[in-house]
Amino acid sequence: MIIHVLPPDVAAKIAAGEVVERPANIAKELIENSLDAGASEIRIEVREGGQRLLRVSDNGHGIPAAEAPLAFQRHATSKLNAAEDLDRIETLGFRGEALYSIAAVSNVTLTSRHAEAEIAVQLRLEGGELVEQGRAGAPVGTVVTVEHLFHNVPARRKFLRTTATEAGRIAAIVQCYALAYPACRFVLVNEGRETFRTTGSGDLFDVIVQVYGLDTARQMIPFGPPAAAAQTHTPAGLAEEVAFMPESPAKDAPETAIRAFGYASLPTLTRANRTGIDLFVNRRYVEDRGLTFAVVQAYHTLLPVGRYPLAVVFVELDPGQVDVNVHPQKTQVRFVHERSVFSAVQKAVRRAVVQHAPIPDMDLPSSGRDAIDAWSARRRSIIEAGDSQRSFTLAAGVPSAEGTLAPDPALESGAGWASQASDDHEAVATPAATSAAEQDDASAGASHAVLSEQTRKLPPLRVVGQVGAMYIVAEGPEGVFLIDQHAAHERILYEKFMAQRGGGIAAQHLLEPVTLHVGREITGLVAQHLAELNRIGFAVEPFGGDSFLLRSIPSVLSGQDPARVLQEIASSLAERRNLVGEEMEARLVKMVCKRAAIKAGQLLSAIEMQELVRQLEACDSPRTCPHGRPTMIQLSAGELEKAFGRI
Ligand code: ADP
Ligand code: MG
Repeated sequence: MIIHVLPPDVAAKIAAGEVVERPANIAKELIENSLDAGASEIRIEVREGGQRLLRVSDNGHGIPAAEAPLAFQRHATSKLNAAEDLDRIETLGFRGEALYSIAAVSNVTLTSRHAEAEIAVQLRLEGGELVEQGRAGAPVGTVVTVEHLFHNVPARRKFLRTTATEAGRIAAIVQCYALAYPACRFVLVNEGRETFRTTGSGDLFDVIVQVYGLDTARQMIPFGPPAAAAQTHTPAGLAEEVAFMPESPAKDAPETAIRAFGYASLPTLTRANRTGIDLFVNRRYVEDRGLTFAVVQAYHTLLPVGRYPLAVVFVELDPGQVDVNVHPQKTQVRFVHERSVFSAVQKAVRRAVVQHAPIPDMDLPSSGRDAIDAWSARRRSIIEAGDSQRSFTLAAGVPSAEGTLAPDPALESGAGWASQASDDHEAVATPAATSAAEQDDASAGASHAVLSEQTRKLPPLRVVGQVGAMYIVAEGPEGVFLIDQHAAHERILYEKFMAQRGGGIAAQHLLEPVTLHVGREITGLVAQHLAELNRIGFAVEPFGGDSFLLRSIPSVLSGQDPARVLQEIASSLAERRNLVGEEMEARLVKMVCKRAAIKAGQLLSAIEMQELVRQLEACDSPRTCPHGRPTMIQLSAGELEKAFGRI
């Protein structure tokens, strides 16, 4: 074996392989060049999936004729001067490798007229060699035409997919950059047909409409500054909820220096995978598992398992705080303060989604404001009657007959529905949340007045009755609500648990400790998770062999068979062995809430229903259960009128 330096054309092809894997990579590099040149209009033309032809034309500042040939040399760039510049990259390109790499594996024609030039320069390269140089008449800007891609690299060609797939990938890239640069007009032409166009209006929402269609765009909400700058209010409990999520960050950098904003889907709009989450760091499209996870985590308990949101996420931060020079295609970045970035994204999305979560409508044609206005007018008299009745029954109910839902401090501290004698309850520690909850109790009758407009996630509801021993029928300002009693109670319990977390979960000590054989297979698992179990109110100790001694259970579960509860929890541990730490704890909490919640089939008294609805109104995310299913559906006044043929 003799070590030798590779001939330049071989070296060029190797280098090209890193930057140019498929036509979409070329589209990306050329679009980035156009954006770096300050273009406000970029046109992309594609033939045969970009392999036959890929042309990007822009109205940017162009290249001076004398410099044009330089653009195709390796490491030739106008964007970087010294090594220190690498620490603060503010342009999309910086390596001076794209044109060089593209030219090595195709035939390229460049026509460019610099802003101060009278005429354009035109170059033609074949396989990286300059074969023609001349002048041409053209408007200010640059046109790069790439033809016969990979004609000299058969190995690469083999890996290309069908023309349609490659064209689709190019379209995806174009849409990405259209999202990142709403002020630039993008036009995509495939096989001579215009397939995508943005207006260049500067409004991100306009682009979202073009990319996703109006129906989907309507289910996307803005988050973070600037659009959400007015949202100064953070719902009580949100902080804990956000902090509860796995990998919640330590404060390792001032988050104020990081801006996270964009659009995210309402929980009603989901996808089966994470590909609907587009991330941009300083307006550069990136792929980042951590940030994608941050977005998904922001929907914690709001989406069904296996469903993912759609989002367009922009992160902006000091270019010195992010390294973009870690991947040949520049699609990966590294953050100096990764956890802060993660946290900024998660919080911004969470805040918006929790505040905007809608109530799913029944699938009936919706109709106008008129019907709703008439509804509210007629409703007023009913409410007045309802309110006097309400305060009367509540007052009567306060002494709390066994099993009722009259406001009872035990209930607020997580004691649950079929409450036991209150002496049984003992908080492991005094949670700060309890005193707030108790204050709320003091004003139970007037709770609607206490909830400010901002904290209210639900309109004030008047309970009408129960149907099917399963749903509560309630009336709101705009129509009728059907509330799933089990799902609603699960949500209430879950948020109570969350609020107590950190302060100590209310636990009920068992008069007699219960011994439980969990079976050999899960002994180890239970032993491993004693800390998590303890944190949510189960005092469990190993008792030799496969048995454990249970001394307390979370108060919400009082009245349930402790042995069965622990057995169930233990099997749940076995099902999800991959979960650790807080993620496991979150799952356990959800399980406990599911068990403790009133079941379908349970008859509820008027007071119980009112109390359930009142507590639901106070939740941060009243519209979904912790598993992401809806707790209620709405039938609007307009829909009712339509269904009855009144309008
Ligand atoms: P980089 O973008 O990393 O600088 P490229 O190989 O993509 O490297 O481009 C080399 C140089 O060619 C750029 O630095 C820029 O000066 C010039 N250039 C390329 N495309 C354009 C364009 N569309 N408009 C103006 N200048 C361009
Ligand atoms: Mg470039």
